[in-house]
Amino acid sequence: MTVATDILAEGKTKILRPGSQPDEVLVEFKDAATAFNGKKYAEIPGKGELNAQISTLLFELLGRHGVPTCFIGGGSNPAELVYKRLTMIPLEVVVRNYAYGSIVKRFGFDEGMSFRKPLVEFFHKTDDDPQITEDLILELHLVPTESILEAIKLMALQINELFLAYFAARGIRCADFKLEFGLDKNGNLLLGDELSPDNFRLRDSQTGAVLDKDVFRLDLADLAETYRTLLKRLKENTPAAPSEKQTYQAEVFVQSRKNILNPESKAILEGVHVLGYGSIQSLNAGKRFVLKVEAENLLEAEQQARKLAETVLSNPVIEDFELRIKR
Ligand code: 5GP
Repeated sequence: MTVATDILAEGKTKILRPGSQPDEVLVEFKDAATAFNGKKYAEIPGKGELNAQISTLLFELLGRHGVPTCFIGGGSNPAELVYKRLTMIPLEVVVRNYAYGSIVKRFGFDEGMSFRKPLVEFFHKTDDDPQITEDLILELHLVPTESILEAIKLMALQINELFLAYFAARGIRCADFKLEFGLDKNGNLLLGDELSPDNFRLRDSQTGAVLDKDVFRLDLADLAETYRTLLKRLKENTPAAPSEKQTYQAEVFVQSRKNILNPESKAILEGVHVLGYGSIQSLNAGKRFVLKVEAENLLEAEQQARKLAETVLSNPVIEDFELRIKR
């Protein structure tokens, strides 16, 4: 039997205990359901197990597509998972495809309307989880570097593409979800937390039936029954919908590395000084490539554009590149 001293941390819906390896933790999903910042609470037998199993399916999906996550495998009971130990970043990263919940209240969108493109919002994990801007996240040092914040946003959008396609193939609309990220002992950014319907808004594409924690928040249906039906639908070997290619816009900026003499930049800087702009101390001329990439999802498009940038558009010995990509 596990003793209380084993507990590393306990939240509303999960208990963390040390794993068999120093860099692993055991995560027990509790049967508790909470809403409205803990004001609504119920014990729902079987919920922990269902959340662990649904999270497993979704972590495995992301793993198959190369998304780095904390997930290692199942634990010693069906409500337990084994995770890599992470230092969590105190942010809730919410991705929205359709307007539901707090964004409707905050900005008056019509409920259920589809956004032109997926939205990413950040909330600071404190007592009342206020919304926070990217500038404030950096000002408060909630992430170690700006590039980690950019990576979080890109990863959240890549994960969204995978979830949209996965749920759509099972007749489910993925309206929104919340992610949390952390850093492993080597400083690598990994997806953490859970991927259960507690963190998602999922609607049946045909009937609009609610398949997530809103059934508990709004007293719409039995939560365990809803999650059980969802798990069954996710497990069913539904043939994947024919994959549709999308077009993504990519920009690649190539510049010579710092401290590497670039004759073109030197010549322009000399000309600039001759023209009277003596205040310009340095100048690094670069190249910008604008690409249209056809791919099944953002992750695939990003991988193709990155490979091209690394191998063809830039010279890795003397140049760095920056890649921006969007749908
Ligand atoms: P909203 O901002 O509309 O309340 O939530 C957006 C999405 O993020 C929903 O799918 C919701 O379930 C999830 N989410 C936001 N905050 C939390 C939270 O504190 N806990 C959990 N489990 N999910 C959250």
